[in-house]
Amino acid sequence: MTTSASRRRPFIAGNWKMYKGPAEADALAELLKRSLTGQAQVDVAVAPPFLSIPIVVARLRHSGVHVSGQNLHPEPAGAFTGEISGEMLRQAGVAYCIVGHSERRALFGDTDAVVEKKVQACFRAGLLPIVCVGETLEEREGGQAEVVVRRQLAAALGRLTADQLPSVTLAYEPVWAIGTGRVATPAQAQEMHATIREWLAERYPPFVPRGMRILYGGSVKASNAAGLLSQPDIDGALVGGAALVADEFLGIVAAATA
Ligand code: PEP
Repeated sequence: MTTSASRRRPFIAGNWKMYKGPAEADALAELLKRSLTGQAQVDVAVAPPFLSIPIVVARLRHSGVHVSGQNLHPEPAGAFTGEISGEMLRQAGVAYCIVGHSERRALFGDTDAVVEKKVQACFRAGLLPIVCVGETLEEREGGQAEVVVRRQLAAALGRLTADQLPSVTLAYEPVWAIGTGRVATPAQAQEMHATIREWLAERYPPFVPRGMRILYGGSVKASNAAGLLSQPDIDGALVGGAALVADEFLGIVAAATA
């Protein structure tokens, strides 16, 4: 099933990972604010490290650029040393939260079950989840890419109602393309995005597959964004490395407006 991308507003999100402490984050946010204030064609969000969130929220106020968390704890509060809850993010002015990023899955033990709890925690806290799915190179080469992505979708979205789903953004991020410079071809990415939309169409009423945005993530840069974003089921990008450089990130946003 393919649904015209023009029905969905493009969304470009930048994941700053463990880069940009408060001073650097403020400087990057200021550059984004200068260029993006007033643009109304693309939804834009940035996900700074927790410590930099307050200064970025303050800097981007009235710019139209939203702030996202990179992670959250499933519980609203408690004796969880070193953790941050969705409620805390919300109080700090955050609108979105990335859940299930492959680095969290691979390095910090975020299983499918944990991802599902974190999606629920986003809803409880009033945050819009950006749910990442994607296969490893081994899984792709073993012909398991679709099986893995379907399993991750089923786990992450399993307890949500159809009415909740349009608040969720999905991000297809093949692990072999993250931070490697090895980008999926537009055709490869489109194929998986169409599969994801089909998966939604098999389970939910038509407004769900038609309305949900599916971002591509994996070595997106200003130079390759247009080809990816021109695909009918690719509604935007989740950007890592290129989100740390204002001109690169702005180039990707510009490609989404074209
Ligand atoms: C990511 O971390 O979500 C990502 C897509 O990283 P990069 O753009 O650097 O591949």
